[in-house]
Amino acid sequence: MKKIIFTAAIAAFLGLAFSSCKKASNDVTAANELSADEKNLVKSAGFNSNWAEKTADGNYLIEGDMLFSKAQLASLGNFTPTHNFIVADEEHYRTNNVVSTPGTGTRTITVSLGAGFPAYYSTALDNALARYNVLNLKIVFQRVTSGGNINIAAANLGTSGGGCILGQASGFPTSSGNPSPGFTLSNSSCATTYLNTVDKVDEVMAHEIGHCIGFRHTDYKRRASCGPGAGESAGSIGAVHIPGTPTNVNGSYNSWMMACTNGNPIFNADDIIALNYVY
Ligand SMILES: [Zn+2]
Repeated sequence: MKKIIFTAAIAAFLGLAFSSCKKASNDVTAANELSADEKNLVKSAGFNSNWAEKTADGNYLIEGDMLFSKAQLASLGNFTPTHNFIVADEEHYRTNNVVSTPGTGTRTITVSLGAGFPAYYSTALDNALARYNVLNLKIVFQRVTSGGNINIAAANLGTSGGGCILGQASGFPTSSGNPSPGFTLSNSSCATTYLNTVDKVDEVMAHEIGHCIGFRHTDYKRRASCGPGAGESAGSIGAVHIPGTPTNVNGSYNSWMMACTNGNPIFNADDIIALNYVY
């Protein structure tokens, strides 16, 4: 099975509604626009070619929160899905690959926070992990000092299109059943000013950890939580409906995996159904 590891980039822009994944898709400058060939490459990989921009380092930011190299896009274009994708309504979705767990007992996933963050980011991570762990899932998150299975790194990610990039990374689980190795949150002053409470950081971390263990955006098809704009496609990573989760969610539906979230770090009843179904 082809191993798919990629990074997804998230960015949110000051002055807009709080969002873990909101993107500056409408702020793409001419220099970032894709050529016709590049658009075809994006389209053949299963993504929205009208919601893609070229980054300064020559990669491609797709649908707001996935960052691919050209080679990765090309390989995705050749990928033949073996699962049936349900792409009908607004429900909870997982990727084809999820974190493998034992038949009985639990699997511990260690999580570390890199240096360079404000102190309250540490509290936020503890809170996020505790909210997962209280659900008694088959994966148990354990905070470690460094070198976690999921590591949250700090870096000054600067700005894009005049907005403040909050973070990037957070791929999805690998075909070998391991979580994505983590994600980067920006520790720039604009990012930490935006994520200025424990709850906001908790929500972003829980959301990105959700991606690391295989959850896609609840509203991925239309990204209703972000307002009008293009949705995401199932792509080769998959968007498999999680049974028991609702259809017809709207933009204010408070799932932890909504594309644009609201600063309120809770798992709602359907989130808990989804987490318990997969884990
Ligand atoms: Zn996201």
